[in-house]
Amino acid sequence: MDEYLGFVYEKRIERAIKSLKANRMDARYFESKEALLDELKIMVPKGSVIGCGGSVTLVETGLMKFIKSGEFHYIEREGKDLSTEEEKFARMREMYFADYYFMSSNAITEDGYLYNVDGRGNRVSPMIFGPKNVIIIAGSNKIVKNLEEAKERVKALAAPANAKRLKKDTGCIKTGVCCDCKSPDRICCVEVITGYQRFPDRIKVFFLKDSVGY
Ligand code: SF4
Repeated sequence: MDEYLGFVYEKRIERAIKSLKANRMDARYFESKEALLDELKIMVPKGSVIGCGGSVTLVETGLMKFIKSGEFHYIEREGKDLSTEEEKFARMREMYFADYYFMSSNAITEDGYLYNVDGRGNRVSPMIFGPKNVIIIAGSNKIVKNLEEAKERVKALAAPANAKRLKKDTGCIKTGVCCDCKSPDRICCVEVITGYQRFPDRIKVFFLKDSVGY
């Protein structure tokens, strides 16, 4: 990244970290994906039960390889051993008992809020309650000024891109923008705003300067 642009992104991250900490989330900055992985290797004990919400960020950062390394008990949401919807839902419910739950966030505001949308709610609900630790990985591209910009970011960018990636039959996969569809495939059925936390540092937000995911 260009050093001047990098400067702007670093300042954004600084503001977001300060506000997230004020909201009792553990927020940190990592120079590189390698530095992030090094920290996680120290932080997450071998044998931990790990779940994760589907995320391009986790793949792009190499986190999925780490999670699936065999050193942990990984709750495989889409496991080949699962043939029915009922079995898949049962596996998703196991996430609530994870030691660590990894995900990204659709947007993070400079004033300390996480903003997420979801279709079934299985990605966002373990963030709210259940797992002992929630680790959110985000590139600086996820930072916006406030909740208004967060909603705009999701409707104009993140949700259409995710709907396309997941091969959903929604209005946005044709136009690239949200039309507030009423499709059974809709991926924005719930909106979750995460602010001040009752349990300090349960949610940890780890930033990377580079753009990761969408
Ligand atoms: S509400 Fe429908 S059209 Fe709008 S972003 Fe979500 S899935 Fe796409």
